[in-house]
Amino acid sequence: MEYYNNKEKIEKLKNIKDYVVIIDFDKTLTTSDSDSSVGTIPNFLGGECLERRTKNFQYYRPIELDYNLSKENKQKLMKEWAEKSFSIIAEYATESIIKETVKTANLNLREGAREFLYKMHKDQIPVVIMSAGVGNIIKEFLQNEQSLYNNITIVSNFFKFNNNKAYIDIEKIMATSNKEYNRIPKELRSKIEESSKVLLFGDIVEDIRMINKEQLHKTLAIGFLDYNIDENLKMYNENFDIVLSNESSFELIIKNFI
Ligand SMILES: [Mg+2]
Repeated sequence: MEYYNNKEKIEKLKNIKDYVVIIDFDKTLTTSDSDSSVGTIPNFLGGECLERRTKNFQYYRPIELDYNLSKENKQKLMKEWAEKSFSIIAEYATESIIKETVKTANLNLREGAREFLYKMHKDQIPVVIMSAGVGNIIKEFLQNEQSLYNNITIVSNFFKFNNNKAYIDIEKIMATSNKEYNRIPKELRSKIEESSKVLLFGDIVEDIRMINKEQLHKTLAIGFLDYNIDENLKMYNENFDIVLSNESSFELIIKNFI
């Protein structure tokens, strides 16, 4: 199903060809039943790493999907979750484990995503993939999918390696709570500010914060709604210009909006 809100804005921005794409990775570029990029490594390693991760997931994931919590409280908890997740992974991961993980991970591009990324590449439209997940996994995955093009910038959390051992600055982790426009490199922000349109894609309402208020008037925000649909539809409709529910593909966007 698709829902069009803000019809006037949609019509106005529809045919503008000078634009930048800002897109979330987990469950936006990938299908909603894919693992999250953070989840792939514990799933691959199993054992103690997976046990620790599962315990955290079961506690924090319902909080992530709960829109009744106060914003401050939720942000605090999401930051806490991210810090714990990344600390656990850093204890076990190596560069080679990350490479191996992606080969068998339950990560699948959403229908039409490959075509979408290819079209963006062909038209040389800048694409910012912004993710509170693991940048190393995203990069390796897109490479394997032959969809990592030179017009793509991945703004995410990247593990570095020292003698094959992973490490990351936990203080600087980007979580759902601080995944914001100002994290995009300055040069790309200038490009966004100069362009006439932004196409933004996300699967949770917080993804809207990948753009700032000043650019909202020229941003076409598209939300994929695959969880708690009945309960969340109203809120998604209030926040996104276009809402696509039930495992929608990118096809409609490719056909009508780019
Ligand atoms: Mg997501």
